[in-house]
Amino acid sequence: MFRKARLKLTVWYLLIIMAISGLFSAVIYRGVAFQLEGLIRLQNERMKKFQQRFNENELSLPPPPPNSPFMMNVEDLNSQKKQLAYTLLFVNLNILAITAAAGYFLAGQTLKPIKQMIDKQNRFITDASHELRTPLAVLKAEMEGKLLEKHISDSSARKLIKSNLEDLNSLQDLADNLLKLSKTDNFSYYGKMTAVSLTEVMKEVHSKMAVLADQKKIKLKLKTKEAVIKGNKKNLIELFGILIDNAVKYSPENSEIKISVTKTVKEAEISVADQGIGIDKKDLPYIFDRFFRADKSRSLAQGYGLGLSIAKKIVLAHKGSIRVESKKNKGSIFRVIFPIS
Ligand code: ADP
Repeated sequence: MFRKARLKLTVWYLLIIMAISGLFSAVIYRGVAFQLEGLIRLQNERMKKFQQRFNENELSLPPPPPNSPFMMNVEDLNSQKKQLAYTLLFVNLNILAITAAAGYFLAGQTLKPIKQMIDKQNRFITDASHELRTPLAVLKAEMEGKLLEKHISDSSARKLIKSNLEDLNSLQDLADNLLKLSKTDNFSYYGKMTAVSLTEVMKEVHSKMAVLADQKKIKLKLKTKEAVIKGNKKNLIELFGILIDNAVKYSPENSEIKISVTKTVKEAEISVADQGIGIDKKDLPYIFDRFFRADKSRSLAQGYGLGLSIAKKIVLAHKGSIRVESKKNKGSIFRVIFPIS
């Protein structure tokens, strides 16, 4: 598909350049021919005057005859025109060859980002459908299995509905996150950037997440220094919501999560430290990749590996950086750094 488009674009480049070059050649040819014709006309007039003066005995020597080798005549003119036409043709053929090569290269360069975007989109669709297939298959198998039973008791029907609802909720989460992830590529997703107090953001996230943490008896400790950055409050709440949600998800009961905001003259740093399961060293480089789950069997029930890629996109849209330090079975620290406005 792209080869065909590349060739088409090359042909268009060729047509445009050759049309311009052809037009210039025609103008040059006409201009030079016009000047040569003018020269012959001038020469003939001068000869006529010479002849007149010679006839009136003003000059002792006669002017050269019209076909003398010193005089330019119509044949010379035609041969000059022919030579010019050949030169222009030669130049145009060279331009054609150069344009064909350069045009093919340029068409490739023009189509490259489009190709990359389409490849990225296709990968996204493949990954998403792959992720959807497993829970859908489980859902289907559960229902089909139950249907094969002759009698379904009330309690087992309820159990099935409950389990199906859980699967559906998780599928809904996946669909929401997929939509969000595709939107984060779009500039308009980030709304208006204004001066935002990180203390306010963190307090809001803290009170939202406290309920979740309470369910696992996890202590959420918040220590903040006032720091104002340029950003979008809604997106920042979403970002730290993801980090704290993960910290809660991957931490044992009765543990502690420390959230802190510190600042220097140029930067504000927000860290979220947990005492959870940690991340294996070999998995750390991939943690922000879409659909990456460090320990699939352990985290399958907890998420689809989209949270951190959304988080990273929000950080980058705020010109910040994010990194993680982690020790297996000891805990993880996610650090986000933003420039101070
Ligand atoms: P998920 O929805 O699976 O949590 P994320 O993109 O948020 O997706 O995280 C990707 C993977 O990184 C998770 O599956 C988990 O293995 C690992 N991870 C993220 N945060 C933590 C954390 N605080 N502690 C341990 N592992 C984590």
